[in-house]
Amino acid sequence: MRLTDIRTALDELQLRPTKSLGQNFLHDQNLARSIAATAVPERASFAVEIGPGLGSLTAPLLERCGKLLLIEKDARLAEWLRAKFPAERVEIVHADAIEFDWRPLMKHGPFPLAGNLPYYATSPILRHWLGPCSPVNRAVFAVQDEFAARLAAGPDTADYSALTVRTQRLWRVRRERALPPSVFFPEPGVDSALVVLERRAAKEFPPARSAFFHDLVQRGFSQRRKQLKSLLKPDPAVWSDWCEKQGLPPTCRAENLSVAQWIDLARALDPAAIHPAQHDGEQFDVVDENDKVIGTKPRSIVHDKNLLHRAVHILVFNKTGELLLQKRSAWKDREPSKWDSSAAGHLEPGESYADGAVRETEEELGIRCEFKLLGKIRACSNTGQEFVEVFAAQHEGPFILPPSEIQDALLLPLEDINAWINARPRDFAPGFWEAWKILRSR
Ligand code: SAM
Repeated sequence: MRLTDIRTALDELQLRPTKSLGQNFLHDQNLARSIAATAVPERASFAVEIGPGLGSLTAPLLERCGKLLLIEKDARLAEWLRAKFPAERVEIVHADAIEFDWRPLMKHGPFPLAGNLPYYATSPILRHWLGPCSPVNRAVFAVQDEFAARLAAGPDTADYSALTVRTQRLWRVRRERALPPSVFFPEPGVDSALVVLERRAAKEFPPARSAFFHDLVQRGFSQRRKQLKSLLKPDPAVWSDWCEKQGLPPTCRAENLSVAQWIDLARALDPAAIHPAQHDGEQFDVVDENDKVIGTKPRSIVHDKNLLHRAVHILVFNKTGELLLQKRSAWKDREPSKWDSSAAGHLEPGESYADGAVRETEEELGIRCEFKLLGKIRACSNTGQEFVEVFAAQHEGPFILPPSEIQDALLLPLEDINAWINARPRDFAPGFWEAWKILRSR
């Protein structure tokens, strides 16, 4: 939109830009096209824009996307946009982007997110949209330049902060270009910049438990000038070993550690990180067509020879009926990075299904609860030749997820899972398709 179009639209709406909503409208059309091309470099079937305002960025985004979802907090602007863009391709939601429930969007698969963000809300918007389970794979935002510098900072600089480390664990961040105040109406009192956040590949960094990592980084940066050993109070022997391995002095501070070193430190200090990962020496009971035990064999042989064996799936619900789905670790030998039942695993030799459910739930989610048997799946290719008993349980968390097994977990309403599994079945482990059928058949 040109400046005159923006003034005309504001007059028509009898609207003065609201400072508290961060309303600074972009009026440089070339820039709007270039931001849209950065946000959606190749055509996308679906994308989301936060804070579309009068649609300066929306129009060039729409040229590059099949469908767009716009989230606008100002009701007058949301209404005005409805008249401007075709409803078949543009859905406009009048909502606060910080509270918007993005879980129903999982069915679209990874999508780009764009926005000339209201500066007062940049931090909470990032936290809400760019967490470990986010469906976003690329985010391009206009933000305050100071904030962009913090996001993209490297170690040993004043801008390097807890925000930097938390963001860069999951995202490659680039400060793309400066945006002078003169490209906005009204002109903001500060410089802006365009930042590009690209989701890191699942195996770019070794696994760490998100909750522990966040807490550790937050504590580490809580008093920047203080040494980490006095802030984090690690076991002195573990600390000096770790520092030596990393080539860091034991007197180091938060800003001296690279993102990779922060991740390594979380792995070294997190008690849940020592959970044993799967190994080929594990023994499983082998069963016949009637699920009767006929012997015991190592995991590798059971899987290589497709021998029938046993497992449990546990579906954990919260009190509002949302189901906890786990995202399997990228390092799993079977179905890495797929979404799966809340907890699932093989039975140990001689173990009953019910005892297996108790053990797996404790090992994978760190909880104890009551179980109800939902049904049994016959061994088939979808379960990897496992007979599976499916149990239901209720728990409100918190859940402690061993990072070697589980990348993360997300609670979802059943209708969202249904829409997602129908649209993108391959996002899920085939064993979950069968557990889901059992749940839906009841
Ligand atoms: N995208 C438009 C542009 O570039 O001209 C407008 C950008 S303006 C900086 C920020 C927009 O975000 C405004 O339209 C404002 O009403 C909207 N907004 C403010 N807070 C919001 C929130 N919490 N959730 C969604 N939209 C919000």
